[in-house]
Amino acid sequence: MKNKAGESSMKNSVKKLIGRRSFLRSTAGVLAGGFWADETLDAALQYTRTASKPSDLRITDLRIAQLPGRPLIRIDTNQGISGLGEVRDGGSKTYALMLKSRVLGENPCDIDRIFRKIKQFGFHARQGGGVSGIEMALWDIAGKAYGVPVYQMLGGKFRDKIRIYADTPQSPDPKVFGQRLKTRIEEGFTFLKMDVGIGLFAKLPGVLTAPLGTPLSAYNRTQHMFTGVELTDRGIGAMADYIAKVREVVGMEIPIATDHFGPIGVNSCIRLGKAFEKFNLAWMEDFIPWEHTELWKKITDAIDVPTLTGEDIYLKGPFEVLCRNHAVDIIQPDIATAGGILETHKIGDMAMEYGVAMAMHLGGSPIACMASVHCAAATENFLVLENHFVDQPAWGDIVDGIEKPIINRGFIKVPEGPGLGITLNEEAVKKQLAEPGYFEPTPQWDKERSWDRLWS
Ligand SMILES: [Mg+2]
Repeated sequence: MKNKAGESSMKNSVKKLIGRRSFLRSTAGVLAGGFWADETLDAALQYTRTASKPSDLRITDLRIAQLPGRPLIRIDTNQGISGLGEVRDGGSKTYALMLKSRVLGENPCDIDRIFRKIKQFGFHARQGGGVSGIEMALWDIAGKAYGVPVYQMLGGKFRDKIRIYADTPQSPDPKVFGQRLKTRIEEGFTFLKMDVGIGLFAKLPGVLTAPLGTPLSAYNRTQHMFTGVELTDRGIGAMADYIAKVREVVGMEIPIATDHFGPIGVNSCIRLGKAFEKFNLAWMEDFIPWEHTELWKKITDAIDVPTLTGEDIYLKGPFEVLCRNHAVDIIQPDIATAGGILETHKIGDMAMEYGVAMAMHLGGSPIACMASVHCAAATENFLVLENHFVDQPAWGDIVDGIEKPIINRGFIKVPEGPGLGITLNEEAVKKQLAEPGYFEPTPQWDKERSWDRLWS
């Protein structure tokens, strides 16, 4: 049965080929007076790219290589083309593997259709990592199949290189920390970020008013508004003094973003923001959880420092709520949570209509980084992309095909190769594996299934 079907489909494709060749011959005959012979056609076909027939591409496998905190995804096809993706840093590989049965047999170039099929299985923060990571891999395959970089498929570039801001190790001494930031400027960075959490100052007397006997670390899973922790004037003064001393070392010219303030209440956020106004910070990030639109708006309206959130938001909808209300000044999606490359591009375009800039969060490997780079290149209101790994050169070792170091003088060059523009360095990935196994088979996920319709 199978043979018969195979034979007849082979006959059909031979017939199609003959039909096309006789058409070519007759066309050529009209144009060149019968000049084209079979030999000429055969020679011409040698230069026709036949390795990939995008309309016949099918997904045949989805496998994982587990780096520390970063499950890398490889999606294989029936034409020898594979695509690379990555689950959000700190996320579980299961978030991708549970989707394998839903993508097997699909044409990986139907990116948007597959995304809409699987997006119900993503959620905020790490749970967005499976859907987003698979989406990245589909773009990589489509780009390789058609021979174009991802940014080109998104509509082309607004910029050739992507501005990076680097995280920098903290120090309780603002002069020491200021010098570290100064080194970043010497390394070519044009945009800085610092953490200025109350943890740095909590040992000083009288900086916090908080329920007695409870360490700050106990509020790890308590949202800021429910901790009862508030800064005193002395605490705000200590934090402002720290930033003043950092600004003395690095000057006022370069933008400095700030993050990780700690579990303080809304009123403390506002008082702190007011005290920081004179330092012209690029933004104050994640004061409170992103979903409290009205509280964010209250903070944003009260202080003359840009506010920012978004690294844990899945899909465009919640970003639209924040932008429409001007609840924050800048949004910062993470491509590995937000829904992948196209959704993040759409988030940027939506924000632009409200006059809101888009920074991009990143905690991932060079795979998620290059996915971000293509999206940033093609999104007009992009501001700056995060990187935590400037002091870890091995971070870039797992990919080849692009210029090294990946971050050069504070920027990443937008790659021109097909897809994400990178290939995997098998040896380097094997060296960094957190679990044994390099993209081992995953047949246990081939048939996972449920009735997934979202309505009745
Ligand atoms: Mg952050």
